[in-house]
Amino acid sequence: MRYSAWEVFRNGLTGNKGWKPVWRNPEPKSSYDVVIVGGGGHGLSTAYYLAKNHGIANIAVLEKGYLGGGNVGRNTTIVRANYMLEGNSQFYSHSLKLWENLERELNYNVMLSQRGQILLAHSDGQMDRFARLGNMMRMQGDDAELWGRDEVRAKLPYLNHDTARFPIYGGLMHWRGGTARHDAVAWGYARGADRRGVDLIQNCQVTGFRIEGGQIRGVDTTRGYIAAGKVGMCVAGRSSQVGEMAGLRLPIESHVLQAFVTEGLKPLIPHVVSFGMGHFYISQSDKGGLVFGGDLDGYNSYAQRGNLPMAEHVAEAGMALMPMIGKARMLRSWGGIMDMSMDGSPIIDKTSIDGFFINCGWCYGGFKAVPASGDVFAHLIATGNHHAAANRFLLDRFATGRMIDETGNGATPNLH
Ligand SMILES: Cc1cc2nc3c(=O)[nH]c(=O)nc-3n(C[C@H](O)[C@H](O)[C@H](O)COP(=O)(O)OP(=O)(O)OC[C@H]3O[C@@H](n4cnc5c(N)ncnc54)[C@H](O)[C@@H]3O)c2cc1C
Repeated sequence: MRYSAWEVFRNGLTGNKGWKPVWRNPEPKSSYDVVIVGGGGHGLSTAYYLAKNHGIANIAVLEKGYLGGGNVGRNTTIVRANYMLEGNSQFYSHSLKLWENLERELNYNVMLSQRGQILLAHSDGQMDRFARLGNMMRMQGDDAELWGRDEVRAKLPYLNHDTARFPIYGGLMHWRGGTARHDAVAWGYARGADRRGVDLIQNCQVTGFRIEGGQIRGVDTTRGYIAAGKVGMCVAGRSSQVGEMAGLRLPIESHVLQAFVTEGLKPLIPHVVSFGMGHFYISQSDKGGLVFGGDLDGYNSYAQRGNLPMAEHVAEAGMALMPMIGKARMLRSWGGIMDMSMDGSPIIDKTSIDGFFINCGWCYGGFKAVPASGDVFAHLIATGNHHAAANRFLLDRFATGRMIDETGNGATPNLH
């Protein structure tokens, strides 16, 4: 069914009994043209665009748990296009444009809120860097405004501007950045894919790959063998493990990233604020909770929960930036498993196995990538060619040295 104001009105009058399930719950077939492993944001959007843009309907998304139970439903929902380097810059710019039409595209309210994201600067050197970044963003066709000390003080009066350690010198405002409702994005793509005939199969873990003569033939799963013409891997924090099942050793490490939310408060923080020096960022949800997070836990892990030292570090950074946060009561914290690549940028590529494609290395920034990642990965799977917006996310860059190292920190996942 299509959602509309009329349907909301009609169902409101009839006890909300007319809503239909948002997707089917099919049994797996014995074979598919394309199997996507992983029902997170990237897997679901890939299936959607394969069906929509390339007319391939015989597709299954295999998800070991439930749709949206991974990072796509665990992130802090920030959407932005403020990358500097060739490769990242055009990709995230493409993604933000897709976000801006996503609700219409999916006929689903993903609650995109372009409330602006500001990067705070704490030194002259950082102001120079943000001036360059802003220029690069504008050359890419995106928006950026460099704010001086007085402007930030006037517009974000709730911050502590004069701490001895990190006084605020200014900031780079990106108005088209903001937030979106994370699980609605998963549900919207799931519904869109299902309507185009994609089988979304939950509780179906891929346990191995069948490869003959260098060609993918199918996948072993907890619900039996499924033959496949092509297979796309979108398993985020499990990328190195699932890749290993196909004999690939990927340049990916898995780390936990935590997030936190307070009780609901009156509107307080109108933008997304990033405090890079303290590795802390914060926004306010539509329900009023302050949503914030910080750095990775810093050690390799496949546990979807974090440890107290990082919770303490994040709380300290929050107190340094806006001391009044100390009065808010924290409701929940959680963790997700990040697929950290060795240069902090993603990998969307073919592999040495014919018909086996990989999509991984999203680090802590893959939510904003969901629309473009699905679009370009579907393009690669369907045509065998890289989409122009993602032709630098190649696996061999780790061998050739053509890294896309946005922060210039080298192969150190916890610094990206
Ligand atoms: C706390 C936190 C905050 C974040 N904040 C942001 C943010 O503000 N902005 C941003 O852009 N990004 C953010 N991210 C990152 C973003 O959430 C991820 O990069 C992105 O969601 C990863 O892609 P995905 O949605 O496909 O992953 P997932 O949702 O994790 O999907 C992968 C799926 O694969 C499934 N799977 C794994 N192994 C198998 C198997 N063998 N068989 C079948 N299925 C399998 C998993 O169950 C999972 O559902 C954050 C992440 C976390 C944890």
